[in-house]
Amino acid sequence: MIWLLILMDFVFLGWRNITPEEIKQEVLQLTKDFQVPDFTLCVNNTSMETLIKNTLRHRINMKPTWETQVASNVTVCGDASHPSTPFLGQGGCMAFEDAIILARKFHQALKSKESQISKVSESERIHQALLDFHRERHGRTYALTHKAYMIGLSASADTAIKCFIRDWFFIPRAVGTGNYMEPALFDVGNLPIDEEESHN
Ligand SMILES: Cc1cc2nc3c(=O)[nH]c(=O)nc-3n(C[C@H](O)[C@H](O)[C@H](O)COP(=O)(O)OP(=O)(O)OC[C@H]3O[C@@H](n4cnc5c(N)ncnc54)[C@H](O)[C@@H]3O)c2cc1C
Repeated sequence: MIWLLILMDFVFLGWRNITPEEIKQEVLQLTKDFQVPDFTLCVNNTSMETLIKNTLRHRINMKPTWETQVASNVTVCGDASHPSTPFLGQGGCMAFEDAIILARKFHQALKSKESQISKVSESERIHQALLDFHRERHGRTYALTHKAYMIGLSASADTAIKCFIRDWFFIPRAVGTGNYMEPALFDVGNLPIDEEESHN
């Protein structure tokens, strides 16, 4: 079993060496009023060497990522390209989508009929494929990482006025049950099929 506890406080206290025992005590203290049966038992039974505490940050990609994430014929994808806070549960899904779309772009650049007769060098076609990949991905990954952050932010509302805004405006309008599920219903399409193989 894997568990994680997320604290949305905005004070960065800096890094300090924290022992697994201190992490465990902090978790037990913070969750002492949880109404989840056996959670304390679960924490107490967790192997100490697996306990880690890290700072979680939201990265705002103001610049279009396709201009900043491609250097020559090298790029990043998945979390390295669009790290996400965990509140939508879509980070892994986006990484898989990246893999499929990247495969399609490479196929188009290297294996398609147009690429075979193209006068552009293979290296340039790869470079262009990477830029196209980021251009195609940016809209979805930008929207989802920001949506996830906003959901986490709203969940951390700690005053009556913030809870009122969250419950009556933010959740029903911006998130809503339908909107919340919508990212998971995305269809990334198929992997490319090699034209030669498809004839066999
Ligand atoms: C607790 C938790 C719950 C989650 N729940 C969900 C969920 O419900 N749904 C969902 O869609 N997503 C979820 N995610 C997010 C999901 O796990 C990540 O978005 C996804 O794993 C990202 O995949 P990735 O391949 O980009 O990166 P990673 O899975 O992080 O893979 C990167 C790999 O690179 C290796 N590596 C790093 N540096 C080097 C190096 N210098 N040399 C060689 N290798 C290196 C790492 O060891 C790692 O194996 C969750 C994440 C966490 C932590």
